[in-house]
Amino acid sequence: MQPERARMVERQLRARGIDDERVLAAMGRVPRELFVPAELRAHAYDDAALPIGGGQTISQPYMVARICSELALRGGERVLDVGTGSGYQAAVLAELASEVHTIERLPELVEHARAALAEAGYAKRVHVHAGDGTRGLPEHAPFAAVAVAAAAPGIPPSLYEQLEEGGRLVLPVGGLREQLLQVVVRSPEGPAVLRTVPCRFVPLLGAEGF
Ligand code: SAH
Repeated sequence: MQPERARMVERQLRARGIDDERVLAAMGRVPRELFVPAELRAHAYDDAALPIGGGQTISQPYMVARICSELALRGGERVLDVGTGSGYQAAVLAELASEVHTIERLPELVEHARAALAEAGYAKRVHVHAGDGTRGLPEHAPFAAVAVAAAAPGIPPSLYEQLEEGGRLVLPVGGLREQLLQVVVRSPEGPAVLRTVPCRFVPLLGAEGF
C-alpha cells in the first residue's frame, strides 16, 4: 500500500478505534490524492478536512471511516450518499457495498467528482446525481444504508422513508457549528437512534435541510 495511506489507516483510524477490517481495507485501497485539488495533493493524507471549492470540504479520513463503520455494510447493499463533494466517501462506500448512488447540489462539484471517480476506477459502481439530496432518490429506493456528509437540523423525513426496514441512516444533526453524528435505524416502531458522536460538518442545504 502507498506508505502515506498505510500510515493514515494505522494512526488515524485503527489507533482511534475503527475496528471494522473491511472499512480499514477499503480506506487502504481508495487513492485519496485523486479526490483533493491538485495543489493540495501533498496534504491528501493529512488528519483533516480539506477545501475542494465552492466553500465545501472533503471530509477528514476519520469521519469517513466512522460513517462507513456505523453503516455496518457487508457487501451486497444498495447505498445512498448525500453530499458527494469530492466523491471520496462514495468511492469508499463502493468498496464496501455493491451499488452506490451519490447526490450533490453544486453542479461544478458533480463534474469534478464524476471525473475523479472515473480516474480512480469507480465509474461503473458509483452513480453521481445532481440535485437536492435532502429529498433522497425515490427512483432508486429503498436503500440498506444512507450516509449524509453535511449537517442537518433534524432527520430529513424523505431519507428515513427511503430506508429498508432495519436499514441505517448516518448523519450529523445539530446547529451550524456543532453537531452529533447520529446512527439511526429504521424500525417498525419508528426511528431508533443507536449512537451519537460529536462532529462538525458543513451545512446540508435544501428542502429538508437548513
Ligand atoms: N462526502 C464528501 C464530503 C463533502 S462536504 C467527500 O467525501 O468529499 C458535503 C457536501 O454536501 C458539499 O459538497 C455540499 O455542497 C453538499 N450538500 C449540501 N447540501 C446538499 C443537498 N441538499 N443535497 C446534495 N448535496 C448537498
